[in-house]
Amino acid sequence: MNKIAIIGFGAAAIGFIEKIKDQDFEIHVFEKSKDIYSSSISGIRADGKLFVSNEMGGDIYINRELQKQLVDYYISHTDNKTVETGQSFSSEKFYNQFYAKGFQPITSDFYHIGTDQLKEVLYNIYENFKLYKNVHFHFNQEITQVENHENKIKLSNGEVFDKVVVAVGRSGHKLIKKTITDYPELILDNTKVDLGIRYEVPDHVVDELNKEMYEFKIRYKSKTGYTVRTFCNNPSGYVVTENYDDFTTVNGHAKLKQKSKNTNFAILVTIKLTEPFNDPIGYGSYIAKMSNLLAGPDKVILQTYSHFKNSKRTKNLYRVLPTLEEDKYILGDINLAFPRRIMESIIEFIETLNEIVPGIANPDNLVYAPEIKFYSNALNNEKFPNLKFVGDCSGATRSIIYATAHGYLMAEEMIAQRK
Ligand SMILES: Cc1cc2nc3c(=O)[nH]c(=O)nc-3n(C[C@H](O)[C@H](O)[C@H](O)COP(=O)(O)OP(=O)(O)OC[C@H]3O[C@@H](n4cnc5c(N)ncnc54)[C@H](O)[C@@H]3O)c2cc1C
Repeated sequence: MNKIAIIGFGAAAIGFIEKIKDQDFEIHVFEKSKDIYSSSISGIRADGKLFVSNEMGGDIYINRELQKQLVDYYISHTDNKTVETGQSFSSEKFYNQFYAKGFQPITSDFYHIGTDQLKEVLYNIYENFKLYKNVHFHFNQEITQVENHENKIKLSNGEVFDKVVVAVGRSGHKLIKKTITDYPELILDNTKVDLGIRYEVPDHVVDELNKEMYEFKIRYKSKTGYTVRTFCNNPSGYVVTENYDDFTTVNGHAKLKQKSKNTNFAILVTIKLTEPFNDPIGYGSYIAKMSNLLAGPDKVILQTYSHFKNSKRTKNLYRVLPTLEEDKYILGDINLAFPRRIMESIIEFIETLNEIVPGIANPDNLVYAPEIKFYSNALNNEKFPNLKFVGDCSGATRSIIYATAHGYLMAEEMIAQRK
């Protein structure tokens, strides 16, 4: 029986195991978190907005049927099978309005499981996998190195496998860094970073959009030349901070039951670095650290939109009150940390959006910074026949459904190869 190791138990691993679990393979899952209840395990813990789209989620093609099949798979593992749904830009009215102002509307179908229900989903899936005698879980096992030998792959814990599937997501960047240092030929591309803000407005400002599509995804080509996009809209949601090893950024999520009175979403500017720069992660990290330097350790900067636009430090808030906990932000001026070209791109985006959604540019709306999305290096899965990378760590995906599908398709490929 072929012995396969999968490193990490997140979305991509779930897709992989689901497809291969009843085949003639011995599967070993190595997960660095201490158990299935650990708060650091898997990316399917926060928010859980699943979407079916060919325009976002990753850089690989996943047909919509498989995407929907995987959405249904996750929903079938919730306890009460209740989700919020929506369709982004299915209505011609909205599509045409946004298009006319220069926005590129992104079409997709959404299914929102919610942070509260997601924990059950992960647990229920795990319980199902455990029923298979050929699937073995090893928690508390952080893999720090993978070595490619002629017909086998050796892990840092000394164990040897016929095939290894690395599915460590973004939090596994140390293992990926070590692997690409050992095998630089795996790298296909690394030039992009998305940098911007989290924007928070009262629900009623975006009520019509929230009701129509739950998540509105748009792209916009700014006069600066940069592309600006919305990301992760959370109706009646909450702003939270996210701690990396050496800096803190802002993020947002929504719960199925507990609701706030505000909607938050990210506005991100995609920065493509060209020669001689080749370190987008370093560039984004420095800007994040600069924001943290101004805000204080583990805090982010909060500013009203009018002060953000006019480069003044915010000292008081007015009608919109933050959903981020008070000890996690400092009122300040984001202009001291962000380059002008990024600021101008975001302001132009908000002002143009205000022509379609009046109130979006209200002076007392809230701006939090920094929000950053790093793109992982795109890795070449053709380089080694027995060492594969799936999900976000491969650079090919950026969402739960795409990562799950990537794992699923990798399993399909391995099953086909064996036959
Ligand atoms: C706050 C937040 C909210 C998000 N919300 C959404 C959303 O609503 N909808 C959506 O589609 N996407 C969302 N995403 C993105 C989504 O979580 C990821 O795209 C997806 O989980 C990627 O799946 P993955 O399997 O590649 O990695 P992950 O799901 O992150 O799983 C990787 C696993 O590998 C483990 N691991 C890491 N390194 C090692 C190692 N060296 N050894 C052993 N184990 C290791 C980790 O502990 C983790 O369990 C969100 C991300 C974040 C951070």
